[in-house]
Amino acid sequence: MKTQDYLDLENEYGAHNYKPLDVVLTRGEGVWVWDVDGKKYLDCLAAYSAVNQGHCHPEIMKTMMDQARKLTLTSRAFRNDQLGYFYKEICELTRSHKVLPMNSGAEAVETVIKAVRKWSYQVKGIPEDKAEIIVCANNFHGRTITIVGFSTDPTARSGFGPFTPGFKIIPFGDADALEAAITPNTAGFLVEPIQGEAGVIIPPDGYLKAAREICDRHNVVLILDEIQTGLGRTGRLLAEAHEGIEADLTLVGKALSGGFYPVSAVLSNKEVMDVLQPGEHGSTFGGNPLACAIARTAMRVLMEEKMIENADEMGNYFLAGLKKIQNPLVKEVRGRGLMIAMELVPEAGGARQFCYQLADRGILCKETHENTIRFAPPLVISKEDVDWALEQIDGIF
Ligand SMILES: *Cc1c(COP(=O)(O)O)cnc(C)c1O
Repeated sequence: MKTQDYLDLENEYGAHNYKPLDVVLTRGEGVWVWDVDGKKYLDCLAAYSAVNQGHCHPEIMKTMMDQARKLTLTSRAFRNDQLGYFYKEICELTRSHKVLPMNSGAEAVETVIKAVRKWSYQVKGIPEDKAEIIVCANNFHGRTITIVGFSTDPTARSGFGPFTPGFKIIPFGDADALEAAITPNTAGFLVEPIQGEAGVIIPPDGYLKAAREICDRHNVVLILDEIQTGLGRTGRLLAEAHEGIEADLTLVGKALSGGFYPVSAVLSNKEVMDVLQPGEHGSTFGGNPLACAIARTAMRVLMEEKMIENADEMGNYFLAGLKKIQNPLVKEVRGRGLMIAMELVPEAGGARQFCYQLADRGILCKETHENTIRFAPPLVISKEDVDWALEQIDGIF
């Protein structure tokens, strides 16, 4: 079958809830992927940062195969011999007290909302059903009804109401707006350290530090959604490290499995997580031995192979190279680590056509919103590969 045959199949039988580039991939290795026609591409999306460790990392693959032969799923009705190790290792790595494992990122977000609401009633003393959680405009936290209910993106939410109450939206990057929005019923503040899906929007320096201080002062729980920014993407293990703060609750997902399997987690201080009692929350697949084994190796190779240091170094190098590209169509280039965006002027006619031009030259990127191209390759990218990418990108501009 050729590319067009696969497109026809998908169009005939699949829901049309995505608009992918018409490239049909069949194989991946490190930063490279191949399509069904044999063309090779540098993957500059890395599955929205789920394959930070590179495609089909051999050690994660070996762990997956070995564990799949032994035991895959027990449900949490019984215990398994991977879960405890996973807990200990992720807590030590991220300096957390407690962890709750789920599968998708959206489930981690739902989990944190439940935990924070319950904490606010039991510990903070907010009257029952009055808890408010503050979120930011242009956020992306996933696709469930509750989560799209507090999105400001009309495409994400329109037609899906009625929505869950209890959320308040403030501008991103504005600490004064946070302070002003807090009431005695505010339980938590949920925010991305850098807004990924909004187009790699980096808040002003000091924003997270100010948010930390404001949350402390009002006994509001600070929740960082690091599902995209976490696990090395920005050149630090967690993006919170750029401001030297620690969240009360941190969400990780995506690269937690190196792209092999859906694994997410809520990392928490003890006080909040301890409000959840048996039976109050869970997931059939959450914390299963296959997921735990994969995540353990995915975290280990991230550290052992110094991928985070490489993300920092290659990110700076890539960003500097992109900034040298002189073209009136380029409005701004910004980034942190290997989370980089090139925003085009509206007159450029949209980023998508540039993504197709880059695909022709062997680079896979995806536009975010109309005018922004994101460059977020696996963290194992080499200097030679960045140089090659820069040549191609320079070529189309
Ligand atoms: C991808 C993402 C999510 C949702 O994760 P899913 O696994 O797709 O449910 C949540 N928050 C952020 C910041 C993300 O990038």
